[in-house]
Amino acid sequence: MIPFSPPYISEKVIDEVVDSLNSGWITTGPKVRLLEQEIAKYVDVPNVLCVNSWTSGAIMILRWLGLKEGDEVIIPAYTYSATALAVIHAGGTPVMVDSGVDFNMDMNKVEQAITPRTKAIIPVDFAGYPCDYDTLGKVLAKKEVLDIFQPSSEVQKKLGRILNLSDAAHSLGGTYDGVAIGHKADISIFSLHAVKNITTAEGGAIVINMPAPFSNDELYKSLRMMTLNCQTKDAFSKSKGGNWRYDITGLGMKINMADVNAAIGLAQLRDYSKLLGRRKEIFNMYLEGLQKFDWAIAPPMKSEGIESSGHLFPLRIKGVTEDQRDQIIDEITKMGVSVNVHFIPLPMLSYFKGLQYDINDYPMAYRNYVSEISLPIYPQLSNKEVEFIIESVCASYVNCTQSLSKIAAG
Ligand SMILES: *Cc1c(COP(=O)(O)O)cnc(C)c1O
Repeated sequence: MIPFSPPYISEKVIDEVVDSLNSGWITTGPKVRLLEQEIAKYVDVPNVLCVNSWTSGAIMILRWLGLKEGDEVIIPAYTYSATALAVIHAGGTPVMVDSGVDFNMDMNKVEQAITPRTKAIIPVDFAGYPCDYDTLGKVLAKKEVLDIFQPSSEVQKKLGRILNLSDAAHSLGGTYDGVAIGHKADISIFSLHAVKNITTAEGGAIVINMPAPFSNDELYKSLRMMTLNCQTKDAFSKSKGGNWRYDITGLGMKINMADVNAAIGLAQLRDYSKLLGRRKEIFNMYLEGLQKFDWAIAPPMKSEGIESSGHLFPLRIKGVTEDQRDQIIDEITKMGVSVNVHFIPLPMLSYFKGLQYDINDYPMAYRNYVSEISLPIYPQLSNKEVEFIIESVCASYVNCTQSLSKIAAG
């Protein structure tokens, strides 16, 4: 069986973890700091804060923003549930927007979702392909949009507009306007979860890129404290003897990353240009192998100044129903290939249905979903395996559509 997304664990990764275990310090300390600095260097934004997941990082940022009951945060309907759940945990209401043909949030539909209660927007770089930050930036800077903004916290007053908080869970390694993801939003959060391009088993990295008059250096310090219960001294500095007295300055969270976890990501990031290059090779092999078939709709990879991180390969099959897509997946699985679906649109999940979201309001998200099959894409895949996956997809498509036309013919 070809797995869908196994973690990349090299000897260097193991050595780095063992080094942490042998160092006498396993939780937040020098390795987390090093990982933050390496990610900062990689994306070329000075302040990066590591946390224990994308989800907890997003909740914290929305709490820092001062979200209150009734406040709205715009998100795509087509995303992983965490995007919406973070908003709800922070006390806000998610307002969902439909997708475009590239899977990403349709930025032309954002303006009509904005109300005086809108405090933030969380666009998603689906599959690692950057969303349309230019159009989004223009919408957020429109006079009509700025005029109706009603700040209700110090941070909101200081910002004076809707916060652009990018869900960059997939897009570490992607570029927009020729620069790394992390520059185009006020705050961008990468996920370092086990299935993502770079992992710390569980983890997230918050890129702090607030405009003036915010000081991103100061913000890094205060947000870091907020990840540690708003305690004025972290355990690492207290461990150094004679440095025991501390204070608790506010209601923080406990969402810091541990050094043993950081070690995994640190070793992977050092090899990322090689690993990312291999992802792109595989992406291109899929494009070459599949684009000759008129039933295969390839995902976007590149356009002017924009490049995907190749996190997923979300293939779409032209003209199939949800049932047919499910049958094709069953066939591919029988041939020994694990595939997946990204994502079930949020309004189709019980919890969100219960909150009165209706999939009929998001027709493009639904259309993208019914025909979507995510193929395995990770650096350890051999060319032979990629070829076998392409053959399995083609054979499954033919088998399913033929047997279906037989059924239809009676
Ligand atoms: C994985 C993922 C998340 C959540 O990341 P965690 O680190 O597991 O909290 C959020 N948004 C998207 C789009 C994701 O794919």
